[in-house]
Amino acid sequence: SAGIKTLLVTGGAGFIGANFVLQAVADGLQVINLDKLTYAGNLDTLSSLKEVPAHTFVQGDIGDRELIAKLLAEHRPDAIVNFAAESHVDRSIDGPAEFVQTNVVGTLGLLEGARDYWRSLEGAARDAFRFLHVSTDEVYGSLGAEGKFTEQTPYAPNSPYSASKAASDHLVRAFQHTYGLPTLTTNCSNNYGPYQFPEKLIPLVIQKALAGEPLPVYGDGRNIRDWLFVGDHCSAIRRVLEAGRIGETYNVGGNAERENIAVVKTICGLLDARRPLADGRARESLITYVKDRPGHDRRYAIDSSKLQNELGWRPSQTFESGIAQTVDWYLANQPWSQRVLDGSYRMERLGS
Ligand code: NAD
Repeated sequence: SAGIKTLLVTGGAGFIGANFVLQAVADGLQVINLDKLTYAGNLDTLSSLKEVPAHTFVQGDIGDRELIAKLLAEHRPDAIVNFAAESHVDRSIDGPAEFVQTNVVGTLGLLEGARDYWRSLEGAARDAFRFLHVSTDEVYGSLGAEGKFTEQTPYAPNSPYSASKAASDHLVRAFQHTYGLPTLTTNCSNNYGPYQFPEKLIPLVIQKALAGEPLPVYGDGRNIRDWLFVGDHCSAIRRVLEAGRIGETYNVGGNAERENIAVVKTICGLLDARRPLADGRARESLITYVKDRPGHDRRYAIDSSKLQNELGWRPSQTFESGIAQTVDWYLANQPWSQRVLDGSYRMERLGS
C-alpha cells in the first residue's frame, strides 16, 4: 500500500527499529514509536527527533492490551511494524523466560490489538492496512557447507531466541489464516551498522579493538554469518510494506557470507589504517579464541531472490562498503558508544 502515512513502530528505540524510524521520519512519515526501553532501548539514538512533531515516543510494552488499543484508536495508523523483541542469543541462553514473554506472549497481545483495530476500519483504510512482523533467518536453524535458506526451508530453531521468534512467526501466520489480518513477515540475516548495541559481534570488536583490548572470538572463529547493512534491511521492510503480498514471508539478505574471523580481521585492518595503536602493533594480534557458545549454529546463508525478483529490492551496500562505513560511524560517534558502555544512556528520557 503506497498510501501509508502513519506507522505504529514497536521496538523503535532498538538498533534496527531506530534506524528504521529515523529513515521513515526523514521520508515524511508520521511515526508512533512504542518501546519498553529495556537495556536494549536507547533514546540517545532518537535525540535528533526530540522536537520533531512527526515522531511520538511512547514507553510501553507490546503485550499491554489496553495501551495498544488506546494508541491504535488515538493515532489510527495505516500499518504496524513490529521490531520489539528480546534479541540477543547469549542472553536467551542465560534467561529464556523473558524471550518467551516478549517475543511470543507480547507479539500475541499486539496481534490481538491489531486484529481488533483492523476489524474496526472500513473501506480503503481497511484494505490498505498491514501488520509487518520483523523476524530472523535463525528460525531456519543451521546450514552445512552448501545451500541457503529459502522461504520454503522448514523451521528448525536451535536457541531459545530463535525458538521464540519462530513461535511469533507462526502466530502471525495463524492470525492471517484464521482472522484474515493482512500480515507480512520478513526473515533477515545478521545486521550491522550505526547504533548497534556493543554486545553484538561487530560493535563489540570495534570498541575493543579501538581500546587495544583482547578481541574475543567464539570457538575456531569459522562460524559463517550472512551480513546485511542495517539501512538495507530497513529499505527492504519499506518495500515489503508497500508492495508485499498479504500473508507472504520474504527473506532478506545481502549475499555476504563471511566467517566470523574474517569479519574481525577486516575490522582490525580498517582501524589500523585509520587509528593505528600507539605501540604500532597490528590489531589482529589482539584476537583471542574463547570457549564456544553452546549449540552455536555453524552457518547461516539466506536466499533473498523472492524479494529481489518480486519486489525489485536490492541492497545498496556490499559487505566491504558497509563495514567501512560502520567503522567510520563508530569513530565519529564515540560519545554514543561511551554512554552505552558506562550506562548513562539509560538516563535519557524524551519529552520530560
Ligand atoms: P534490539 O535488541 O536492539 O532492540 C529491541 C527493542 O525492542 C529495544 O528497543 C527494546 O527496548 C524493545 N523491546 C523489548 N521488549 C519489548 C516489549 N515487550 N515491548 C516493547 N518494546 C520492547 O534488537 P534489534 O537488533 O534492533 O532487532 C529488532 C528486531 O529485528 C527483532 O525482532 C529481531 O528479532 C529482528 N532481527 C534482528 C537481526 C539482527 O541482526 N539484529 C536480524 C534479523 C532480525
